[in-house]
Amino acid sequence: MSKLGNETAKAALGRATWKLLHTMTLRYPEDPTPDEKEALKSYFHLLSRLYPCGECAAEFQLLLKKYPPQASSRRAAASWLCHVHNQVNLRLNKPEFDCAHLDETYDCGCGDEPVSLPSTLSPPD
Ligand code: FAD
Repeated sequence: MSKLGNETAKAALGRATWKLLHTMTLRYPEDPTPDEKEALKSYFHLLSRLYPCGECAAEFQLLLKKYPPQASSRRAAASWLCHVHNQVNLRLNKPEFDCAHLDETYDCGCGDEPVSLPSTLSPPD
């Protein structure tokens, strides 16, 4: 693939991933259990290891060291991710996003049903 094609694919992957991540933190429980907090932190740490763009993954790992995932509440998680995304924007010379607009920007169309997380991180049998 050409360099331009690579960059286009990398950007498309980034947009899709950010959309998932922001939508997820905005649906994260308002008052999470210890297990749910652990799940969120693990999710981001695993993402930083497995994200398919190697350069992005390496940079993201450094960012997570500097700004560890905030899992105490939905607001904490969503604001933390907005801040971290803005740090990536800064490095890539992209405009800063106003985190006051998070709620109106991300709507998963999932209704009001609560997010249901299994009570353990172990995979099913
Ligand atoms: P994106 O940054 O993809 O944002 C998509 C939309 O999200 C924006 O249009 C805006 O509406 C909204 N948005 C923007 N900022 C925020 C915010 N702070 N909070 C909430 N919503 C916001 N690309 C590289 O070239 N090098 C890297 O090292 C790199 N690292 C990455 C690390 C991760 C974890 C991810 C998910 C992506 C990474 N990318 C990297 C991709 C890069 O961040 C962009 O996704 C890509 O360049 C496309 O940019 P974009 O201008 O379409 O907007």
